[in-house]
Amino acid sequence: MIRVLYIGGLGRSGSTLVERLAGQLAGACAVGELVHLWERGITQGERCGCGAGFHDCPFWQQAGKTAFGGWDQVDPGRVAALRSRVDRNRRIPGLARPGGPGPGRAGELAEYTSYYARLYAAAGEVSGAELVIDSSKHPSLAHCLRWQDGVDLRVLHLVRDSRAVAYSWGREVRRPDTDRESYMTRYSPGVAAAQWNGQNAAFHLLRGVPVLRIRYEDVAAAPEPALRRIAGFAGLPPVPAGYSFLGADGGSSWAELEPGHSVSGNPMRFATGRVAVRRDERWRAGLPAAQRREVTALTLPLLAVYGYLGSRA
Ligand SMILES: [Zn+2]
Repeated sequence: MIRVLYIGGLGRSGSTLVERLAGQLAGACAVGELVHLWERGITQGERCGCGAGFHDCPFWQQAGKTAFGGWDQVDPGRVAALRSRVDRNRRIPGLARPGGPGPGRAGELAEYTSYYARLYAAAGEVSGAELVIDSSKHPSLAHCLRWQDGVDLRVLHLVRDSRAVAYSWGREVRRPDTDRESYMTRYSPGVAAAQWNGQNAAFHLLRGVPVLRIRYEDVAAAPEPALRRIAGFAGLPPVPAGYSFLGADGGSSWAELEPGHSVSGNPMRFATGRVAVRRDERWRAGLPAAQRREVTALTLPLLAVYGYLGSRA
């Protein structure tokens, strides 16, 4: 049984940073957002985090052989069809029931999650890691994987201030994942707020697997203690001497990042070498006051739960 740390939460919550940091831990292998591997990797051949096209990356070539006997043995259309049947937000209430989704969908669910189980096991085998980190983020996939016996699933629910998330979804960001002109999806503040509520609330329904809830802001402000918590939660041995890939100059933290083999994710997945680790606070100046009030009002209950109200979080 392969141990998997699944990073969940709404996009633009800092999951790529957390994945890159956790991917530096000894015994861990970070593979990016596997939910997008079928379309963006197998079909589109988008770039791996190492810079090579998906089908030119030695890691993914070997993982495909180990998991399936080669990528040409996988029908991405079949995975997409199964996904549309079982891995959808509207299926979460059924998946969250104590007995699972019921016999009507159990077969499709088992087939769908078996693709992931084989892929996780292959990534572990090819990398030699005991822990595979998947930053797919979607709560519905976590709810599916929770029923897969071949996966020792641990869920890291990463949260970030809704105002920062809404600001980020409003910005135009180019995707360096492909040679085509391509931009990341944008949301209005109201849509971002609704997404933030729905995606985060869905993780509170997850039962039967360990869930660690952590704030992006706390990771960015003090990466070392946050990573120690994450490593312990993921079953990695403690490192009493501290993490050599983390450091600080004056008051600013940095991390030394090696190239990884992430499929899909924020453009930060391509960053290597010494990278500054600090809170991204651009939203405080950049988000207009009316939008800030709107997002605050729409997301108030969970903002309070996560400790973002009152003093500066
Ligand atoms: Zn690669």
